[in-house]
Amino acid sequence: MSIAPDTTVVLGHRFAAELPEIALRWQAEAAPDPRLLVLNEPLAAELGLDPAWLRNADGIGLLVGNRLPADAEPVAQGYAGHQFGGWVPRLGDGRALLLGELVDAGGRTRDLHLKGSGRTPFARGGDGLAAVGPMLREYLISEAMHALGIPTTRSLSVVATGRIVQRETELDGAVLARVASSHLRVGSFQYVSAAGESEVLRRLADHAISRHYPAAAEADNPYLALLDSVIAAQAHLVAQWMLVGFVHGVMNTDNMTISGETIDYGPCAFMDAFDPKTVFSSIDSWGRYAYGNQPSVATWNLARFAEALLGLIDEDQDRAVELATESLQQFSRLYSVAYVAGMRRKLGLSDDVEDAAAQGLCEDLVALLESERVDYTSFFRRLAGGAVEPAFEGWAGRWRELNPDLEAMQRVNPAYIPRNHLVEEALAAASAGDMELFDRLLQVVSSPYDERAGFERYAEPAPEEFGSCYQTFCGT
Ligand code: AMP
Ligand code: MG
Repeated sequence: MSIAPDTTVVLGHRFAAELPEIALRWQAEAAPDPRLLVLNEPLAAELGLDPAWLRNADGIGLLVGNRLPADAEPVAQGYAGHQFGGWVPRLGDGRALLLGELVDAGGRTRDLHLKGSGRTPFARGGDGLAAVGPMLREYLISEAMHALGIPTTRSLSVVATGRIVQRETELDGAVLARVASSHLRVGSFQYVSAAGESEVLRRLADHAISRHYPAAAEADNPYLALLDSVIAAQAHLVAQWMLVGFVHGVMNTDNMTISGETIDYGPCAFMDAFDPKTVFSSIDSWGRYAYGNQPSVATWNLARFAEALLGLIDEDQDRAVELATESLQQFSRLYSVAYVAGMRRKLGLSDDVEDAAAQGLCEDLVALLESERVDYTSFFRRLAGGAVEPAFEGWAGRWRELNPDLEAMQRVNPAYIPRNHLVEEALAAASAGDMELFDRLLQVVSSPYDERAGFERYAEPAPEEFGSCYQTFCGT
């Protein structure tokens, strides 16, 4: 590893220093022929990184982990997790590294993390690598989510490594540079708790409180307050997913953050026709992570988080269970509040409209959307434009009586989401070396509410021939 001459990049190592037990020092594999495919210039600027510098050899070296500041301490993070309900005591960053922390323009600490940077001691049977397609997919969808105002990890860059990755076919390898407020997961707590490391668990919880929920430190029971904060953040997050028709696809406990940011864009996708049973992931044959199951899966995951925290919540196990249970019961209320508030905005309803009326209208709409299988995203845009299908006329009559604000609706209902057929088309071209469709789609979904002439096809549902059996793949 050579040393980057740009001494302005300062990578902190707070996580590694405070939690050495779950931070394994490791280096990225050398990328034989790195080539920058996409760089998020506004995000770079926010992080105090010079986009022009990032485009040169030293900058690209940073983005693949090969040229780091002299005192950088990249680590692979240890975590456990429930995958599709089954307990896996040791997962961890098998193909990822935390390079360190940056302080952004707003003074916030942000993790700089790589995915696809080579095998680590957590790699198990994996090759530690990632292919161009899936890394560009995470880049595109995470940036679309950010533009939709949904808490998420961000994507700074994708660099093709020049290494071949063996999947079903030979693919070009890539490294994604990802930015997050932290990479603490429910699985991080499970890992430490299952190992019986109560002192480390307390340190981990204190670290999480300090980074994400400093107010919890002042509470009578800081660890119960941490649990409550994560429950509230996840209830809000999952409500935002549901409002835009996002299906995460692999809501394992290692893919659920403590910060409340969406993380690990694997087999995720946006639903076209409204159907709560929508599943895209090829490996989710039971529909565990179907669209309509996401709130209950989140509760299940949070129960695993609560279990990991029990020893910190109260010395008396029964009392700890009682307190944690009360906290978990808040999820459905918090979720409903966030969901209904979001639906009110989508329907342009003013605060004068009573909650009961809004809620009834929402429930009836959801039932109609499901029975009519209409395209979820464009329905709200067309509704704001005054167009409804005959089956919705009765419902729309009730809605119009509430004097909806049609202009406000245009500001909250996206015209553009990363539709599956567009994503596939862009990734196929990019994997063949042509980034034009990708760049255009990225540009479109980065301003989702701003409907533009010439981009009509980006607002339309998938053509018939794309079919309803679209599948996404995990572990790619
Ligand atoms: P994910 O499905 O991306 O959340 O990953 C689940 C677990 O599998 C994590 O521990 C990853 O680090 C690990 N993993 C996924 N793909 C690979 C790979 N190609 N090589 C090594 N580890 C991997
Ligand atoms: Mg993961």
